[in-house]
Amino acid sequence: MNILVINAGSSSLKYQLLNPESGELLAKGLCERIGIDGKFTYKPQIEGKEVLDAVDVAMPTHSEAIQAVMNALVDEKNGVVASMKEIDAVGHRVVHGGEAFNKSVLITDEVMKALEDCIPLAPLHNPANITGINACTAVMGADVPQVAVFDTAFHQTMPAEAFLYGLPYEAYTDLMVRRYGFHGTSHKYVAGRAAAMLGKDASELKLISCHLGNGSSVTAIDGGKSVDTSMGFTPLAGLPMGTRAGDLDAGILEFLMNKYGMDIKEMVSILNKKSGVQGVSGVSSDFRDLENAFKDGNDRAGLAVDMFNYGVKKLIGSYAAAMGGVDAVIFTAGVGENGGHNRANITSGLEFMGIKIDAEKNKIRGEEIDISAEGAAVRTLVIPTNEELMIALDTAALAK
Ligand code: AMP
Repeated sequence: MNILVINAGSSSLKYQLLNPESGELLAKGLCERIGIDGKFTYKPQIEGKEVLDAVDVAMPTHSEAIQAVMNALVDEKNGVVASMKEIDAVGHRVVHGGEAFNKSVLITDEVMKALEDCIPLAPLHNPANITGINACTAVMGADVPQVAVFDTAFHQTMPAEAFLYGLPYEAYTDLMVRRYGFHGTSHKYVAGRAAAMLGKDASELKLISCHLGNGSSVTAIDGGKSVDTSMGFTPLAGLPMGTRAGDLDAGILEFLMNKYGMDIKEMVSILNKKSGVQGVSGVSSDFRDLENAFKDGNDRAGLAVDMFNYGVKKLIGSYAAAMGGVDAVIFTAGVGENGGHNRANITSGLEFMGIKIDAEKNKIRGEEIDISAEGAAVRTLVIPTNEELMIALDTAALAK
């Protein structure tokens, strides 16, 4: 079975063709500058097939982008399947499913209507996801099953005490203002892999999943269910991230807006694009750049990383308290998978909780590994995330 996984943005579209049963990736790539001048990248994973790197392809809309993907995948010389018939279903990453979706769903007219209803919750992302779905229908026909996989769905199991804000209750009942959480596909995937690594059923485990990348979130997973997570109504909440501020005192907004004469749009843009470790360091949003700058004597770069690590440490402590214990802490995504210094810094001082890592194992990269020190009561796992595989697995299950 071959599943096409689509992650559509407003002017870009990432794709992967993979076999969820074997996990084999056949091809991946990216359509960029859709509606502008159209750049197409195609990376077949079969030896001898030619890579296309940001070549010019006219893509006035997402439909031409999907058509370009199809043409490349079935191309006689460099394609990876003989015809479109060998693509059994399409899985779409959809950012926001609101309270309407607590799991992945087969896309129907009714689902499309519900996705439209979720647009106010993710005005930048959901319209692009809907456009991606419509483009696939236009190019592939209505008979190919399509599935929506939501970033928010995994967190719909959170209890009200974890998802409500201390606002007038009507903000929730009338306007659906609550914590939704994101990165759900990644947290669900690594939680499943952690259970497999520990030889246990997910229902028996209390896990803390740390998805640390350019965007970061930490999730408490009790018995296979998300019970709390650090992102909120939007992905702006929780940890200070690459460029996002994370949690802050809402009173600061009025203070800064008055001082700098900014409107709310400018303020939110700063919170999303000029804050986090980029804002604190003044150097970069990229953790490798920060590490290098710190080595070169830039203390603010070091402080930004310390702030980030401290934030993760506090979340691990608070989620262990929320669940009444923890069996394993998982590190995933760019920083979680590669940042040995970050992992060492985050876990140091948590020995009282039974968390202790092995310095040698902590150096190993690029594989699923238990980096716990001998005798540690709580396992510390590094698990490369694979959101596309998770989307393909959900899509295959529903398409069948
Ligand atoms: P992601 O959003 O998951 O792609 O993660 C991107 C982040 O991972 C960037 O900030 C990278 O600097 C960071 N990253 C990648 N490799 C390393 C590394 N070896 N050490 C620390 N951070 C890394």
